[in-house]
Amino acid sequence: MNSDFDLTGRVAVITGGNGGIGLGMADALVRAGCTVSIWGRNEEKNKKALEQLKSHNGGKAEARVCDVTKRASIEDAMKATLDAQGRVDGCFANAGIGGGGRRPFIDRSEDEWRTMFQTNLDGVFHVFQVAARHMVERAKAGDPFGRLVPTSSLASIFGTAQNEHYAATKASLNALSRALAVELARYGITANSILPGWIRSDMTAGVLGNDKFVNAVLPRVPVRRFGEPSDFGGIAVYLMSKASSYHTADTFVIDGGYTAF
Ligand code: NDP
Repeated sequence: MNSDFDLTGRVAVITGGNGGIGLGMADALVRAGCTVSIWGRNEEKNKKALEQLKSHNGGKAEARVCDVTKRASIEDAMKATLDAQGRVDGCFANAGIGGGGRRPFIDRSEDEWRTMFQTNLDGVFHVFQVAARHMVERAKAGDPFGRLVPTSSLASIFGTAQNEHYAATKASLNALSRALAVELARYGITANSILPGWIRSDMTAGVLGNDKFVNAVLPRVPVRRFGEPSDFGGIAVYLMSKASSYHTADTFVIDGGYTAF
């Protein structure tokens, strides 16, 4: 590796890497020389994303079908990735579902609550634990390096009405990564969460296509545009690089200044 930001030789897993923010991160990582393994449930989406990633000069990427709500599915994907790539240096737990329409808390069903937690929080527990076991084992063998990065949300720090189940999962991710940062630092593993603002993706296509919403929210974004998945490339490369070795237990807000305004 020639520079602190050259990721040649590194391998990153990105759950939900076949679209939106995850693909934005994967794209920049591949261009920085990293080998990327994108995990998602939809094989067609995986295939399309892989073509995009491989179109970069020398782009090294693979895709795994994986449902993060199922431990066995994650273990299979990790085994296949390790068999193919030999190592996993970074784990971006980015797969997530949105609120699927807001609803008063007093009408929230237990099913909706549980489904949200199974994907957005339990899914991160499973993938981080499987990845961390590999990273700790490697550290004990003399190669201490690891990166754990959940995609959280501004909802973790704002009061977001009628979306409390989503907000609760995301706030838990901030706490989870801070705790892991402290516990795993001695193995060379850092943990930092990313808090996106309003970003264009499949998840937000409905709300960001609604003129009334756009006219109300856009004036509150100082950079005067909504975010794009590519806005997450820089942070992904930084966090995967050795330049970020001393940066842990943090929350990175990427929102065009929305929270400051
Ligand atoms: P997308 O809907 O574009 O991406 C979601 C990704 O998660 C897809 O790749 C999807 O792939 C994957 N996914 C969903 N459920 C599962 C599952 N059970 N197992 C494996 N993969 C799964 O949305 P975004 O890119 O916007 O969202 C990415 C993350 O960013 C989410 O965690 C979201 O909460 C967070 N976020 C997004 C914001 C925004 O404004 N867009 C704001 C704040 C946070 P597949 O369908 O193939 O499984």
